[in-house]
Amino acid sequence: MGHSPTQDAHDILTEAARVLILTGAGMSAPSGIPTFRGPDGMWHNFRPEELATPEAFARDPLLVWRWYGWRRELIAQCQPNAGHVALARWMSRHDGVTLVTQNVDGLHERAAKEIGSADPIRLHGSIFRVRCTECGTESGHQEAVDASTEDTLPRCEACGGLLRPAVVWFGEQLPFDALSQASDAAREADACLVIGTSGAVYPAAGLAHEAVSSGAPLIVVDPGETAYDGMADVRLVGSADEVVPEIVDELGARPSAAKAATPPCR
Ligand code: NAD
Ligand code: ZN
Repeated sequence: MGHSPTQDAHDILTEAARVLILTGAGMSAPSGIPTFRGPDGMWHNFRPEELATPEAFARDPLLVWRWYGWRRELIAQCQPNAGHVALARWMSRHDGVTLVTQNVDGLHERAAKEIGSADPIRLHGSIFRVRCTECGTESGHQEAVDASTEDTLPRCEACGGLLRPAVVWFGEQLPFDALSQASDAAREADACLVIGTSGAVYPAAGLAHEAVSSGAPLIVVDPGETAYDGMADVRLVGSADEVVPEIVDELGARPSAAKAATPPCR
């Protein structure tokens, strides 16, 4: 182990052939997207837990769509931060890294597209996709939502049913394929890096526990306290956009990969 937490984290990640990264809302906080539990998480005095539920949508789809319309506009004005970019660059050099995100904002995807690295596994869907409440058809949906009345809300092209955001709400199941891929990566991981997530939202939070149970050292990046602090091998107390580049920028292809035919590309 080195002399500073940053060095320790760097050493753990250098040794690891397979790494599971789990990100939450704090990853995008430096991009200007509020976390649900942070001071800016409220919208018109509604708590996210009151709006991000199937019951809220059934009761008042207009209200819920207005909130999503506001969040979509906010997110569309934000850019991936130095942390998103550093992770995408690292993934482009090291194919043993699996990125799993709870975020619905698409910022990892935008960084990945820029760098040419793999997309994250999305546990909670995307705010820029919609799903039909009647026939279940899902599609991309970037356009502005007209939430002036219930009659102007977006409708399904196939059956005319009301469309909803294709995100996972509180109390809903996670997409099976995404969760099982993430779970496999957690069990195979030699190290686990958790960034900007309180560890309070299950089953996503359980992935870090799976990795640790399988023997992976745990590194936590967060400026505040999280449910993982007690089990963390290294805690890096700081903002994702500053801490993440510090620990991953110097990581190249792992030594065993360097021996293979393809040279590490930086
Ligand atoms: P959370 O709100 O429970 O926790 C956010 C964590 O981020 C906290 O531990 C906080 O201390 C930390 N944080 C705050 N600023 C940070 C920074 N600059 N750098 C690093 N960490 C920082 O979020 P959650 O656990 O992800 O759960 C809420 C759920 O709501 C998510 O699973 C997600 O689906 C959804 N959500 C998504 C977004 C998004 O897509 N950007 C935003 C809010 C909520
Ligand atoms: Zn439909």
